[in-house]
Amino acid sequence: MVALANPSRPRAAVVKPPLLNFAGVCLHCGDRWCEARKCADWHASSCWMVCPDCRGDGWTDTLLPCGCLFGVVEASAAADRGGRLSAV
Ligand SMILES: [Zn+2]
Ligand SMILES: [Zn+2]
Repeated sequence: MVALANPSRPRAAVVKPPLLNFAGVCLHCGDRWCEARKCADWHASSCWMVCPDCRGDGWTDTLLPCGCLFGVVEASAAADRGGRLSAV
């Protein structure tokens, strides 16, 4: 049920995190063990990029929490925060 990152994209420098995080919580709607079709569709079409705030560290002692997931952010969500950043 968990959609894993697709390793077949040849130029993918960023790995898409699984729809359910390691605690089983959906990245999209926040439900545990989510099986919603809309979330699966969102995940399949989502595009991820290295977090522009922490540059992929995920967190640091010197930065405020940036809200990324393991050093990556969903590209459209990052675009919503302003700035035109190239997505992968
Ligand atoms: Zn969901
Ligand atoms: Zn970050």
